[in-house]
This record gives sequence, C-alpha cells and structure tokens, in this order.
Amino acid sequence: MSDLDVIDPATGRVVGRVPSMTADDVTKAVDLARRAQPAWAALGVDGRHEVLRRVRREIVSRRAELRDVLVAESGKPWEDAQADLLLTLSMMAHWESNAAAACADESLSTRGVWGLGRRAAATYHPHGVVGAIGPWNFPVALTFGDAVAALHAGNTVVLKPSEVTPLSTRWVAEVFAEQARALDAPDHVLSCVTGDGATGAALVAEVDMVQFTGSVRTGRVIAHACIDRSIPCSLELGGKDPWIVLADADLDRVAAAATHYGLFNGGQVCMSAERIYVEDAVHDAFVERLAARVSTLRTVAGSGPGTTDVAPMIAPGQVDVVTAHIRDALDKGARAVTGGLPADVVHPAPTVLVDVDHTMACMTEETFGPTIPVMRVHDVDQAVALANDSAFGLTASVWTRDLARGRAIARRINAGTVSVNDAQLHVGIGHLPMGGVGASGTGARGGMDGIRKFQQRRVVVTNRSPLGRELSWLPYGRTVSAALDRAVGLLYGR
Ligand code: NAD
Repeated sequence: MSDLDVIDPATGRVVGRVPSMTADDVTKAVDLARRAQPAWAALGVDGRHEVLRRVRREIVSRRAELRDVLVAESGKPWEDAQADLLLTLSMMAHWESNAAAACADESLSTRGVWGLGRRAAATYHPHGVVGAIGPWNFPVALTFGDAVAALHAGNTVVLKPSEVTPLSTRWVAEVFAEQARALDAPDHVLSCVTGDGATGAALVAEVDMVQFTGSVRTGRVIAHACIDRSIPCSLELGGKDPWIVLADADLDRVAAAATHYGLFNGGQVCMSAERIYVEDAVHDAFVERLAARVSTLRTVAGSGPGTTDVAPMIAPGQVDVVTAHIRDALDKGARAVTGGLPADVVHPAPTVLVDVDHTMACMTEETFGPTIPVMRVHDVDQAVALANDSAFGLTASVWTRDLARGRAIARRINAGTVSVNDAQLHVGIGHLPMGGVGASGTGARGGMDGIRKFQQRRVVVTNRSPLGRELSWLPYGRTVSAALDRAVGLLYGR
C-alpha cells in the first residue's frame, strides 16, 4: 500500500498523507462493516439515533478542528469550509428528527377486487453495507453527510472520499468510531477507505448499495458496475445550472446573488449560476452591476473568517477546464467584462463573459470554476428553450418580482429543483428531495426519497379469508370459469 500526498492548493504545501488502499484493503473494510451491520441494525432506531446525536455534538464541539482540516486540504475560504460543516450538521439534525418515521412499517391500501380479504404492509430494511463515494468540493457533506440517512436506516457505511480531499472525511470517521465506542456500539459501523478511482471501483465491487456524488463520467461507470452486480445506486452528478433573469427582476439583488452563487467555493459547486439568460431590456444594466461586484472580490489565500472571498481551484487540472472554456468563448466572439484568461493556475480571476451563445463550451459543458457567462435573450420563451437545451438537469433559478409568473416559468424548466428568486439553499431543507434529472443523475438527497434509497422495501400481504379455497384455484370448472368471465365484463368493461 503506497501513500497519497494531500496538498493545500492555495500554498502547494503537503498537509497530510493517506494510504492508497488496494482492493484487498477495501475487501477487509467491507467485511468488517458487514460483520458489524446486524448488531448496528439490532440497536434499533433509538439506539442508532443516540450514537449519531453524540457524533453530531462532538463535531460541533470540535468544529474549529474540522474546519482547519477542510481549509488545509482544499485551500478554500473559512466561510466555504463552514458551509460544508453547516450542510453536514443540518443533514444530521434532519435525519435525527425524521428517520424513525421512515423506518416504521407502513400500512398499504388493498382496495380493489384482488385485495378482498387481504391486508398489506411495507416493511423497510437496510441494504447491508453502503459504499459512499464523494467529490472534493464539499468533502464532508457530500461523502459522510450523504450517508447519514443510510446509517439511520440500519446500514453500515464505508466512505471513499476524493483522493484530493480525504482528510476531513477520515477525521469524521475517526470521531464516529470514538463516539460509538464510548456508547458500546459496534465497531466498524462507519469506516473510511482512501485512494483514487481504483479504490472507489473496488468498493463498488463489494458493497450492497452505492451512494455516489461526483462527475457524470464516473457516475456512468459506477451505474454500469452496479447493474452488473444487481445492486442499487443513487447518483448525484454534475449540472449546468441555468438562471433566467426577467426584465422586472430586482437587478441589484440578482447581481449580488449571481456573484455569490456563481463564485461561492470558487464556482466549484454543482448547483451554481453556470449560465445566465437575461432579457434584452435589462441585460446591460445587469451586466454592469454584476461586473462591479465580481471585480472587487479577493482571490488571495486567506487565513480565518473574512480574509478572502474566492476559493482556489481545488483539484489539479481544474484550471485547464476553466481556461479552455474562456479561451473557446473569446475565440468565438465573447468578451470578458471582468477577469479573463487565467494568469494564475491556482487563483484564476473571477470572470464575467458576455456575447456568449450555445456554440461555446462555457454555455453547454460544466465549467465548475469562477466564470459567469451572461447571454442576452429576446424574451422568456427563448430563455426557457436555451435553459432546456442541455443534457443536464440539476437546478435552475428564475428571477422576477412576479412570483406567480416565476412559478409558471419554473414548471417549464427541465431540472430536479427550480428556485424562484433563490438558489442552492434548498439543499439545506432536509424535507426537500434534491436530485437531478437527465445526465445530472438519479435518486435524491432529502425528503423520503433521501432515506428510502438506503432501504430495501418488502411487502407483506396477509389473507384473512375463512374460505377453504379461492374460486380461481385448480381444478377448473365450467360454471366457475363462466362466472369469472362474466365478472371480467362487469369489472373492466364499463
Ligand atoms: P469524480 O467523478 O472525478 O470523482 C468523484 C469520486 O469518485 C472520487 O472519490 C473518485 O476517486 C471516485 N472515482 C473515480 N473513478 C471511480 C470509479 N471508476 N469507480 C468508483 N469511484 C471512482 O468527481 P470530482 O471531480 O471529485 O467532483 C466534481 C464533480 O462532482 C462535478 O461534476 C460536480 O458537478 C459533481 N458534484 C455533484 C453534486 C450533486 O449533488 N449533484 C455535488 C457535488 C459535486
């Protein structure tokens, strides 16, 4: 087993080292998780809740330590690390309040002729061992946070964080193990394997269900592997989130929102402001306000709250995508009203592009960086058509003072979540199922869907008939068959 260096992209310093785990290491981790699972399930909803509550409290009391690890491995601003922490804690709090209802038996209707004399209930069971594989942009929330519901549902979990940012996820797994031990809960309920894609692939080959958050490319590879093994998977993939700004929108607020949601975490967010369509009448006024805000942001490395604004490019190679998208746009006639081609490979300047169109990669492919392309449109129909001209369907936003019109437009956009005068923060509302359509994935975090995916549903049907035999049973008789045929007409022929 060799080691992987973890590098702070803001400084280039090695800040940690983790083992690059082989398929054998992964098999061992999954075996231990599999052996722990029955005892974890046997703790029941309340017992599991007690452990998870204790872990949450410990994370809160040691949050400065976790934030430092996040900042060190990603180079991001203190506030962006805090966002990862907050999202994780909100997911934990949500499932503590809502998992019990999802684990209870559910009575099902048997109405209809075939249900006469019958009762049915659904019972919910853990899959066994869940493998949770995550990306580098929010390493705690999108690896551990995405697996909290799986733990409440009685699964044990093996986390596989991104090789770029493994330290924070491993830190959480260590805290979980300590706290579980303090309560005499089983060992190996939550563990963490480290390594690159090969380690992730080895995990997919062993577990009973895969929770994946990451790129479309990897998601498809994982989906194929899961189909081959007949195991379920949930895929939270990329996006090319469109915003539509109508002429009646509050332009100052939209410009402030676009600056934040487009550049928060250096634009390395799946639900970003990846492309903005603005009605002709307000396009210039909006661009002026947006550029004025974007051009004042700080990109230098910070140290502590309030010391910098825009995160560096966290993953190696990310700046190449940003550069390629800006270069392609400029070559095809776009203009950068602020920023431009990156001069710094770690801290590219936040860039607002105008005169863009759908021949340009910046409008059709996920950039995942600090660029905000703004396109002028004649009217809302053109904006909706362009918003839907994409294989992705993660999130979208509509900005208008007319809320009813905004909601009507939202219904026309092909995305898992559409916000009116808002963006992104729906992910913190645990009751909302947040997931993508099209290339953006299948499955959701939040809502009932966010825990059902970690459960196997079994339906138990009980027949309470006092009759010695059902009419339709063998042996067949002329009279009964004729009567049943007449019933077909009565039941289904009307
Ligand atoms: P990635 O797909 O490159 O890697 C994600 C994880 O998959 C990493 O842990 C990686 O080691 C692992 N992996 C790679 N190959 C694998 C394989 N063959 N089998 C199993 N695991 C494998 O993604 P990334 O670059 O880390 O993250 C950025 C992407 O994540 C962006 O596309 C972004 O939109 C997406 N994302 C989506 C959401 C969402 O909620 N929809 C949230 C955050 C990020």
